[in-house]
Amino acid sequence: MLTPEQQQAVAQHLNTRAQRPKCPVCGTTSMRVQRDVLSLPTTGANESEIRRVIITCTYCGYDMHFDPDVMGLSLPDAGSQA
Ligand SMILES: [Zn+2]
Repeated sequence: MLTPEQQQAVAQHLNTRAQRPKCPVCGTTSMRVQRDVLSLPTTGANESEIRRVIITCTYCGYDMHFDPDVMGLSLPDAGSQA
């Protein structure tokens, strides 16, 4: 889960990168940063999961996934979110 501050940081990150994020499906710019973080299992031995911040188009519902490391977010380990 992202804190409201982290959600704000994600929105700010996206707004400072070239253009406002635009939905590739419907073209609107009304996007919402989801509180929940996606966790994908991987086949690697050391890294057991990939985590992605989810940005959802509030018009058509399309999801975009962003790397929290690239955005400078430090998320707690998956095991600690009981
Ligand atoms: Zn859309």
